[in-house]
Amino acid sequence: MSFDVDALRAQFPILDQQVNGKPLVYLDNGATTHKPNAVIDAIAGYYRHDNSNVHRGAHTLSDRATARFEQARESVRGFINARSTDEVIWTKGTTEAINLVAFSWGRDNLKQGDRVLVSGMEHHANIVPWQILGAQTGAELVPIPVDDRGQLDMVAFTDLLDERVKLVSIVHVSNALGTVNPVEAIIEQAHAVGAKVMIDGAQAVAHWPLDMQALDCDFYAFSAHKMYGPMGIGVLYGKRELLEAMPPFMGGGEMIETVSFEGTTYNTLPFKFEPGTPNVAGAIGTGAAIEFINSLDRDAVAAHEADVLNYAVSRAKDYPGLTLVGDADHRAGVMGFVLEGAHPADLGMLLDQQGVAVRTGNHCAMPIMTRFGLTGTVRASFALYNTRADVDALFAGLDKAKTFLM
Ligand code: PLP
Repeated sequence: MSFDVDALRAQFPILDQQVNGKPLVYLDNGATTHKPNAVIDAIAGYYRHDNSNVHRGAHTLSDRATARFEQARESVRGFINARSTDEVIWTKGTTEAINLVAFSWGRDNLKQGDRVLVSGMEHHANIVPWQILGAQTGAELVPIPVDDRGQLDMVAFTDLLDERVKLVSIVHVSNALGTVNPVEAIIEQAHAVGAKVMIDGAQAVAHWPLDMQALDCDFYAFSAHKMYGPMGIGVLYGKRELLEAMPPFMGGGEMIETVSFEGTTYNTLPFKFEPGTPNVAGAIGTGAAIEFINSLDRDAVAAHEADVLNYAVSRAKDYPGLTLVGDADHRAGVMGFVLEGAHPADLGMLLDQQGVAVRTGNHCAMPIMTRFGLTGTVRASFALYNTRADVDALFAGLDKAKTFLM
């Protein structure tokens, strides 16, 4: 296997530290991944050499910043195989990308009696915007049920699909359960009844190559910080014909062509959706993250990640008193669980004392916690730099935690 995890880890300076006197074992990659030197250096290099506002064209630094900013957009286009950079909108992240679709496309296209289908395992970012919009338009938000193993009930989905459904907005990989949803089948079935499809790819983008043209979704959202890039930047992919027909989401500089007190005309794509000074350093950092990912053998990365996750799941299944929350046939990146007699928050704190970083709580996905009769879980989430030794440290940490709690 052409995958040297030690060499890879050496590119992530943050991993080389002690936390509470123990070597850091970072298993909170679902919340955010760490950044390799290439990303850190690209951001610092931009501020050291090229920092300037973009698209103003007044001087050399501005030209350089603009060129690098637009090169990064082209890197994203290639990374997701979009047809054109016009289909790549910079946002603050997944959350803003979903809000953009809700309050631009949704406000224009949804009315009383229409339905938006989501899964029962959505992050709040793919629930709340539709509820706010529903209160304004009368469109109804309908969840697709999830079975006891955390898998989408595809029979129920098919039953729910009728002419009232105008949009299916679905998470690609659940951040709480790790379930990989069958988005290809969902897109095909939704399109067959004339509904549009939005995919929340926040937890998918780091794990395997994406191809917008093959997938044929209408919108796809993701955040750079969950794919080894910086915080505060992400992408909305949208099909050109939809984006062209949509009204602006926010107004300001950059997104206009002409402004007068009589009225305003808007800029072309993608700028129509990018008012104000953009996060240029973030875009450049995202481009560097893509270059980093593309420099790896992605099949080898996927095989390594699957090996570590499967090892974690098999150890969890043998661990006394542990119940997995979400045990889908097809999962990626995430393992959620509860331990009999131990509150997740206490476990999180005791693991942290062992240097093991996990997330505890509802994971911004309260409805799926309620579905399982829980208020929260412990979540270990994995990235390409994690190893079986990290998994062993997690379970050794649990052993120790139990001695305090039981
Ligand atoms: N959707 C999913 C599935 C997520 O896991 C997250 C973040 O955890 C989000 C949306 C929100 O992403 P961001 O906070 O980067 O906007």
